[in-house]
Amino acid sequence: MLVLEYKVKGKKHQYDAINEAIRTTQFIRNKAIRYWMDAPKEAKVNKIALNNYSTALRKKFKFVEELNSMACQSATERAWLAIDRFYQNCKKKVSGKKGYPRFQKDNRSVEYKTSGWSLNQVKRRITFTDKKGIGEVKLLGKWDIQTYPVKQIKRVRLLKKADGYYCQFCIDTDVKFESRIDDGEIGLDVGLEFFYSDSNGNHEENPRFLRKAEKAIKHAQRQIYKKEKGKNQRRKARQRYARKHLKVSRQRKEHALELARNVCKANALVAYEDLNVKGMVKNHCLAKSINDASWSLFRRWLEYFAAKFNSQVVAVNPRMTSQKCSDCGTIVKKSLSTRSHKCECGCELQRDVNAAINILNLAKARVGHTRSNSSGVGITTLVGVNLLEQILTVNEESPDFTTK
Ligand SMILES: [Zn+2]
Repeated sequence: MLVLEYKVKGKKHQYDAINEAIRTTQFIRNKAIRYWMDAPKEAKVNKIALNNYSTALRKKFKFVEELNSMACQSATERAWLAIDRFYQNCKKKVSGKKGYPRFQKDNRSVEYKTSGWSLNQVKRRITFTDKKGIGEVKLLGKWDIQTYPVKQIKRVRLLKKADGYYCQFCIDTDVKFESRIDDGEIGLDVGLEFFYSDSNGNHEENPRFLRKAEKAIKHAQRQIYKKEKGKNQRRKARQRYARKHLKVSRQRKEHALELARNVCKANALVAYEDLNVKGMVKNHCLAKSINDASWSLFRRWLEYFAAKFNSQVVAVNPRMTSQKCSDCGTIVKKSLSTRSHKCECGCELQRDVNAAINILNLAKARVGHTRSNSSGVGITTLVGVNLLEQILTVNEESPDFTTK
């Protein structure tokens, strides 16, 4: 699945129409969640039931009916994703919050599938043909959407970002396998000092732009509160802040993508810690160095490129990986500030490198098993919709849009 993104250029009334479609999507999604919440226990509300519910909503509300029927389905599918995630978390007995579906207030996108739009055959333009009145808009970008057969375009998504409107096309290209340059095996450990350390003894530096941007963003954020509420200046300050944020999330994405690509290109087996990133960020000491967003992005791109290079990505339970000697298995206790691993067996390594080797060893020991098992090792697979959803969430990142 390939995602092409264009900036949308249209008139004010067209942007208003996009906003309206986005609002309708949110309405349907939230209605579907409510429908699920209110349903009696014995009525099993599943994806299909929610789909049928979207048809019912269309009959009831004119503004829902105006949105393309498949776009309405996409909206209930979003509700289903949230519900299903909750079910999965309950099933897996995830500790802490299970992510009970919540009502969304900040939706920023509407998703069409294979109908409700048509491409201009010559120019880079798209027309939305449902009754929301978006009409024909220009697409600004360097790719030629026309080169892909329309049949391969599975989804068209309109997004509102801090600096305007965007249109994404999800194209179903057969996964093109690229050939790896090497068949290495690598373990990755997230540390305090580095973005990650690997089992070969390399350390990947934390991207400097994040530190720099952090300052700029904080400054921009403070400016908002200095301006009077409801005033134009405040609105502008808010926009400046949002734009800065958007810029960083793009840089972050580029960084994660590039790293993940290189790792998968050179390795047949990639092992990483299955960290509860949420839990980690609560720890303030770690939060500064490890940017949770960067790391989870990196993981997603690892999975993406693993599919592309036909590499295997394995998530490993990180328990004891930093304490255990990677050579002899003895537990060598160390505090967070101890930066090296010294074992009686003579093994001396940088702390994170030792952990990375342990991570790789754990993965190798279990790689024979397919799928996940109770000991916390999972082999991530990526196909179809999941991948699409992942890429979309990656692309969507913006300050007041939390992807769940
Ligand atoms: Zn040892």
